[in-house]
Amino acid sequence: MPLYEYRCQGCGQNFETLRGAHEKDADVECPQCGEKKAEKLMSACCTAKGESSQPNASSCGAKRFT
Ligand SMILES: [Zn+2]
Repeated sequence: MPLYEYRCQGCGQNFETLRGAHEKDADVECPQCGEKKAEKLMSACCTAKGESSQPNASSCGAKRFT
């Protein structure tokens, strides 16, 4: 299952959740406040090219400069 990143529009909490293909457009409940007003964010892993390059893709961690 792909991992999606959301931001709650109620409390501003960012969180990630695994979503099946059939439920990716369904309401996502915020784990912090329980609001179902989360907006889906673009995954930093998949959309790094083109978008404003952010050197700190925290949740990916695949490629790290040592
Ligand atoms: Zn919330």
